[in-house]
Amino acid sequence: MSETAERQPCPMCGQEIPVAAKKCRFCGEMIERKSSNDHAISGLIPYKNPPALIAYYLGLFSLLPCFPIGLVALVLGIIGLRKVYATPEVRGTVHAWIGIVLGGFFGLLWTAITILGLIGAIAAQNH
Ligand SMILES: [Zn+2]
Repeated sequence: MSETAERQPCPMCGQEIPVAAKKCRFCGEMIERKSSNDHAISGLIPYKNPPALIAYYLGLFSLLPCFPIGLVALVLGIIGLRKVYATPEVRGTVHAWIGIVLGGFFGLLWTAITILGLIGAIAAQNH
């Protein structure tokens, strides 16, 4: 009757171990906590930082030759990055940087190609 701690059977050996235990003292099996799993998922996809997430996808789309999307990814990436600095728990640093780097690079590349194309078209008309 002295045992007040909650107990659960070990998933490996079935011995009763404290719920709070990280490791089974009978077989040495590491006990996984459900909360750490949720944490890993939120670290992978920054649900709490939509600008960073949108910047990431727009950054990937900016690989296609349609220049305004890359520039939007660049702006959203910067917004997302500022959000991470203000509140680090929202996460999304990597997603924001992918948006900034991919979006910025390809956004400027397609813009340059479009401008050069227009200059070329104008030069051809002057002939
Ligand atoms: Zn065990």
